[in-house]
Amino acid sequence: MPNQVLPLSKPTPAPEITVVIPVFNEEDNLGELGERLVRTLTAMGRPYEIIFVDDGSTDRSWQLLTDLNGQYPQYIRALQFHRNFGQHQAIFAGFQAARGRVMVTLDADLQNPPEEIPRLVAKLDEGYDTVGGWRENRQDSIFRRLPSQLVNYVMSRVTGIKLRDYGCMLRAYRREVVDSINRCQESSSFIPALANLFSHRVTEIPVGHAERERGTSKYSLIKLLRLNFDLMTGFSNLPIHLVGFMGVAIALLGFFLGLFLFIRRIFVGPEVEGVFTLFAILFVFVGLNTLGLALIGEYVGRIYREVRGRPRFVIRQTLGPES
Ligand code: UDP
Ligand code: MG
Repeated sequence: MPNQVLPLSKPTPAPEITVVIPVFNEEDNLGELGERLVRTLTAMGRPYEIIFVDDGSTDRSWQLLTDLNGQYPQYIRALQFHRNFGQHQAIFAGFQAARGRVMVTLDADLQNPPEEIPRLVAKLDEGYDTVGGWRENRQDSIFRRLPSQLVNYVMSRVTGIKLRDYGCMLRAYRREVVDSINRCQESSSFIPALANLFSHRVTEIPVGHAERERGTSKYSLIKLLRLNFDLMTGFSNLPIHLVGFMGVAIALLGFFLGLFLFIRRIFVGPEVEGVFTLFAILFVFVGLNTLGLALIGEYVGRIYREVRGRPRFVIRQTLGPES
């Protein structure tokens, strides 16, 4: 997919920390972001690399990334997509190129302060597999926050994956978790949810959040809906199960209506021209139809699950010789 790669100029010690950043038309933020990242990570005193993934930007972003790579060739790498594939695809690409033992994801818009990275990594060092950030004092408009709250509530219910803040991409993962993510073959997915699936110990810490000072949000309403639909269909079959329940409920209703009409006919006499009997029969058939639809949906859902090719299990430890 990437049609251009800026490599590191000279072989450096294998990085311990890899920071992956999706970039879509962020020309106003990249300069400051690069500076602050390099400053923060250098202060940590561990070998690191920063991978920017240009998700088909149409502004000067790639030019700026080329400059950053020239300025810090030992730390900064960049990949370029030839068109816009989406934030999560960009992170996938970054993960595949990453060499660190620890991966950190971060937005390019400086809303997640890069200075929080040491805290996330320190948490991983405590033995967690995944450390999520949740935005304390989120600095977005109410119109951006309310849908997010709804999403957080509905998604944790529907997918059974408990994330306090689905939208926060400031997160850190152990190499093993990212390896499992890399083995998935799905084309649309949601990285934090996948990571939770493959993690044994997960924790979440509050992280700072700043207003977007430059550039605008890259998520239109449609794009946001599509992302949440990916999350919903990628991690649960609940929607199709609901259709199934509905089918059964309608069919049962029809059956009991028929039963009621039958008993009524014995004791009271026939109702007007059998209209309601017809309704009862109709309901039974409509219900069965809906149920049939849900069954087909269930099979399609299962095929989808196979197609995604996610690892079916992840072995954490083995005792005795490994074959
Ligand atoms: N992004 C991307 N591809 C897209 C949309 C967004 O790579 O199609 C990047 C964007 O450059 C930023 C991050 O994903 O680094 C989050 O986007 P944004 O800040 O616009 O989202 P919001 O904070 O409004 O949810
Ligand atoms: Mg943002």
